[in-house]
Amino acid sequence: MQANTLITGATLITMDAQRRVIRDGALAFAGDAIVAVGKAADLAGIEAGKVIDGGGFLLTPGFVNAHVHITETLIRGFVPGDLPFDDILGKWVIPLYKGHSPAEQAVAAKLAIAAMLRTGTTSFIEAGTIIAFDEVMAAIAGTGIRARAGRWTEDRAWDPAADAQALTRDAFAALERDLAAYPQDGRRIAAWPILIGHMTATDALWQRTADLARRTGTRISAHLSPVGGDAAWYLAQTGKRPVAHFADLGVLGPHLNLVHMVHVDAAEADLVARSGTHVTHCPDAALRSGYGVTRHGLFPEMAAAGVNIALGTDGADNHDMMRVLSLMASLFRDAREDRSLFPAHRALEMATLNGAKVMGLEGTVGALAPGMKADFVAHDIRRPEWVPLTNPVEQLVASADGRGVHSVWVDGVRVVANHRCTLIDEGALQAEGQAMAEAILARSGLPLVSEWPII
Ligand SMILES: [Zn+2]
Repeated sequence: MQANTLITGATLITMDAQRRVIRDGALAFAGDAIVAVGKAADLAGIEAGKVIDGGGFLLTPGFVNAHVHITETLIRGFVPGDLPFDDILGKWVIPLYKGHSPAEQAVAAKLAIAAMLRTGTTSFIEAGTIIAFDEVMAAIAGTGIRARAGRWTEDRAWDPAADAQALTRDAFAALERDLAAYPQDGRRIAAWPILIGHMTATDALWQRTADLARRTGTRISAHLSPVGGDAAWYLAQTGKRPVAHFADLGVLGPHLNLVHMVHVDAAEADLVARSGTHVTHCPDAALRSGYGVTRHGLFPEMAAAGVNIALGTDGADNHDMMRVLSLMASLFRDAREDRSLFPAHRALEMATLNGAKVMGLEGTVGALAPGMKADFVAHDIRRPEWVPLTNPVEQLVASADGRGVHSVWVDGVRVVANHRCTLIDEGALQAEGQAMAEAILARSGLPLVSEWPII
């Protein structure tokens, strides 16, 4: 057998069908695909153009970040942490964000992607809040990461004088245009018909977008019920909670990923389970934003009912999926005082295989096995937090974090080497990002809020 690269002598968490964890293992890939995974001795006969000594590394599949706003990075640190949810969005995040130029959006996206790649994320689903879509898609493509992304899409006519039908028609036309311009067809980067969600899309847009997703094999991702406001709005408008209303519209199903889903009731959880709708949970964002996830979240019940639950980082602050993994393996144990809930291996499945399922890429990414894409991470186990190495899955989730990610491959291309992105000029990007962020804040007229003086 021939391969481009053979990494030998490494420890592997494969996430394959048997969930093998291999000591003194090896992985070989050719082109963009893994061709062999096993004990180093069994792969010794492979002829490889390049052989890497894996002795200091633990290999895992790349993480799937199933919900991230890549173009919000430049407002990092600006937004006060103690305001009500509606004020944060309405008075800070959205005005700041909509004040970006296309070049600023592209730089924000690259910063987020650099942070993701360097902490082991190889695939992500954007949250559907990109405004300068073509510029950002070009920026994504240049980084080497795998992505499904969508533009800012909503059509609710909040102004009674607005032409409601035109809003729906224009929103849907933009989705159709994007899907035609960036089709999936097995590509690394593609557009999805992503909706902002909450109560911002009309029933007509929901139904037309669901048809579009089913017809094109793409997926809708949409925010729903991080706090109680969405449920209150739908109850007042339709007499039903939002998931029940979506069931009536016929828009639930495996083509839909609902993000947050903290304030859902048992009947909504049941509808999600029965319809095969995916759910993405962002524990870091939920805790920081005070959603009440430990008090209200039905994630243990949804998981028990068979709902495919993936993980995401959400907003501008943290892009390290390993921090999210650690939280996932902690918060419901505490909330329910039940140590059996979401152990390390379940959290790791959520960040790999379950995320791949949301992306429609099960059998393609999320595991180290022959035929899968060569999307994987080499964690440096010569760091103190990895010593002694006895139980790699537990230690990956409980002891390590993204700082230990040494190298990352996507489609067989080494996109991170020795803790640095190889396709991004990180120095130039950081200088540009700092200057742009200061200009955005100055233009906004908003104050820089800090409890303590910044002099
Ligand atoms: Zn979000």
